[in-house]
Amino acid sequence: MQKQILIENGAIVTVDDRQRVLDPGYLFIENDRIAAVGAGEAPVRVRAQAETILDARHMAVMPGMVNSHTHLFQTFIRGLADDKPLLDWLAAAIWPVAQALTEEEAHLAAKVGLVENIRSGATAVIDHQYVHTDPANDDGVCRAAIDTGVRLLLARGWADMDYPPPFMETPEVIVDETTRLFKTWHNQGDGRVRVEFGPLIPWGCSDETMRRTYALAQAWGVGTHIHIAETQTEVDINLEKRGSRHVEWLAELGILGPDVQLVHSVWLDEEEIEMVAQHGAVIVHCPVSNMYLASGVAPVPTMRAKGIPVALATDGPGSNNSQDMLEVLKTTALLHKVSSLDAMVLLPEDVLWMACRGGAAAFGQSGQIGSLEVGKKADVVVVDLDTPGAMPVHRPPSALVYNANAGEVDTVLVDGRILMRDREILCVDEKALLAEARAACGRLFERAGVVVDGGA
Ligand SMILES: [Zn+2]
Repeated sequence: MQKQILIENGAIVTVDDRQRVLDPGYLFIENDRIAAVGAGEAPVRVRAQAETILDARHMAVMPGMVNSHTHLFQTFIRGLADDKPLLDWLAAAIWPVAQALTEEEAHLAAKVGLVENIRSGATAVIDHQYVHTDPANDDGVCRAAIDTGVRLLLARGWADMDYPPPFMETPEVIVDETTRLFKTWHNQGDGRVRVEFGPLIPWGCSDETMRRTYALAQAWGVGTHIHIAETQTEVDINLEKRGSRHVEWLAELGILGPDVQLVHSVWLDEEEIEMVAQHGAVIVHCPVSNMYLASGVAPVPTMRAKGIPVALATDGPGSNNSQDMLEVLKTTALLHKVSSLDAMVLLPEDVLWMACRGGAAAFGQSGQIGSLEVGKKADVVVVDLDTPGAMPVHRPPSALVYNANAGEVDTVLVDGRILMRDREILCVDEKALLAEARAACGRLFERAGVVVDGGA
């Protein structure tokens, strides 16, 4: 059945190669694709075809953002261990709860997290999922993506050495389980769900399994997603054990091409940045999480100047504590202004580019998503700027980055399907989901022996 949707009267922030803003403009969707984009009013012929017309007057219409790195299970952990550096935070909060996680809890946590992503304007999410206490946890996350309609890249996490035993796996289990997930879920949901390898951190991953999984990833035509150089301590561990910095190590293994997503990359030196630029890997910047855990400031302006595609992400709700990509936009701009003492170092257009086009590169679908252009997937976000907090609007890209917050995201479409309209989530019963999640959270904390102030 053909499905046509017209979005009219809005400021169309295309994030195309010329960063065109069509204000006012229209966007016409046929089934899952963008069929027309233009300035002014939609042609009568186009308008006549539309079975649904969305009025975006005083609103901005932008590509759905890609939240290029999160850990959705942490939705149930947010706020549990604030004010700690990375390694203490992992030991105090993340590992004890993760150990007790069941499939249903992984599913519900992911679903709440995905709804939060929708509400903040993200239509695609890369979930670095490394809690396999029950192998079905990963299936629970994929089910959540199917249920909500969000685009999901499951980066199936793994560690095969020096990691807490409950989360460590043998190379055979890593390969077999990822193969199973790839066969079961890759390209499900009309291609919205995808699966790749997600080695966790250099200090938990052996050279041999890195090589083995990367060869498989290449054979399958999927990517590899890894945290690197989040903290100085982790770089020092690698120097001591392997005699190399993180990017040097990846280059030695031959794992640094455009199919590789390097999350954090806070502590890269100049030579490493040069190597990433030469090999084409994508860097995923998580400014809120890096500030929250006091990890440091990734040299993003230098990376961009070298032509490295940089994507943006929230990181897990455990170190953020939200999934708010609009907050990430603003934080990115502010963090780099203050750290460089240069007010022009990142402009709103640059930040939107990172969240949309950089995100599409991280997601491995640059030709499919990331901009409002004819032929691309209809992943679209409409943000209401006619609010006390956002008006008046002088430049829509600037209003999106500096004025807007998640509460102003009005309507969200993925693959041409309306997941939220007039700020109401249509893809799931949100109230019932929250009630179910609250109960599941209480049970999980009880089993994990976590005492929550105020009693849950
Ligand atoms: Zn992470």
